Amino acid sequence: MIQLHDKYFKPFVSATQIDRALTLLAHNMAKDLGDEIPVIVGVLNGAFMVVSDFVKKYPKPCEVTFVKLASYQGMQSTNNVAQLIGLNQDLTGRTVIVLEDIIDTGNTLVHIHEVFKNESVKALKIATLFFKPDAYKQDFKLHYVGIEIPNKFIVGFGLDYNGLGRNLPEVYQIKETEHMTNLVLFGPPGAGKGTQANFLKEKYNLVHISTGDVFRYNIKNETALGTLAKSFIDKGALVPDQVTIDMLNAEVEKNADANGFIFDGFPRTNAQAESLDKLMVSKNSQINAMIALEVEDEILVERLLERGKTSGRADDADESIIRNRVKEYYDKTAILKDYYANQNKYFGVNGVGSIEDITVRLSAVIDAL
Ligand code: AMP
Repeated sequence: MIQLHDKYFKPFVSATQIDRALTLLAHNMAKDLGDEIPVIVGVLNGAFMVVSDFVKKYPKPCEVTFVKLASYQGMQSTNNVAQLIGLNQDLTGRTVIVLEDIIDTGNTLVHIHEVFKNESVKALKIATLFFKPDAYKQDFKLHYVGIEIPNKFIVGFGLDYNGLGRNLPEVYQIKETEHMTNLVLFGPPGAGKGTQANFLKEKYNLVHISTGDVFRYNIKNETALGTLAKSFIDKGALVPDQVTIDMLNAEVEKNADANGFIFDGFPRTNAQAESLDKLMVSKNSQINAMIALEVEDEILVERLLERGKTSGRADDADESIIRNRVKEYYDKTAILKDYYANQNKYFGVNGVGSIEDITVRLSAVIDAL
């Protein structure tokens, strides 16, 4: 077992297995291509190691180049994909093999096809060392697949967890814990979910995931996800489901050794609630309870305007945006009460009073679960 940052990973695919898979890929590809000289295109950063080992095994002449895309896995939009390192050669009439380290949802392939759309290549083929069939959501044909793996977070051989692990010569899988306690902290904006989550996560040793916080982190760091989310958040509207769901899944995967989660700000729609159930089932776990902080609208508006004086959040500063967030809650999110009530998992808690009193009320619900 190894540790990277705060997570533990167990050995999963050995260097020998990787070596064999790449040898087979190179052999099959060379057989198909005959005497044609392919252009192998590695997708940075992850594919640097795969490409390096692969081309050494390729038994005939080939060209090698790289692209680097400023894309986020969870993004659906195919527009405005920045190529940080782009193609700089004429590929007219050439057979291009895009070589990936891993294909999971396949969203990167959308961007790849976008990049090659105007290149007049003879053929565009996709090759990957690892493939997660259970996560794959696209229709693009994958021409060469090395090793199929389950939908679990992996590191090593070019793949990283928050920057670490790329240099490992073999691949590791994140260590999961079963028997988790998973809570959805629910309530309109300003109900005090974030404040209470900070107390509860310490008390019950849970990982707190606030989708709002993850979005704000991405906005601050000017990632592609942040840029996309900002346009919705600034209006007080919800970010599209698929973007949010993919992001949430990635956050949960990163914390696979957690004792459980407090989901704060997620789910906000039926589609999100269903995807969360599926995610929990894939971890042999479930949502234990939705605990809702109940607070009247006028108190919410008052609290958020007060918080806006210091939070620096644009969506806290303007009363009409605040009212839109509350409206979004009642239009799209409040229905989730029924979703969890139907499973006998809904618990309403009075969210007005001192912070300590409210923590006591929430703890009483959790202790009784
Ligand atoms: P919050 O910090 O939870 O109030 O979230 C701030 C903003 O982030 C929301 O107004 C939405 O624009 C966006 N957001 C956060 N969580 C979600 C979610 N689960 N689905 C869609 N949008 C979200």
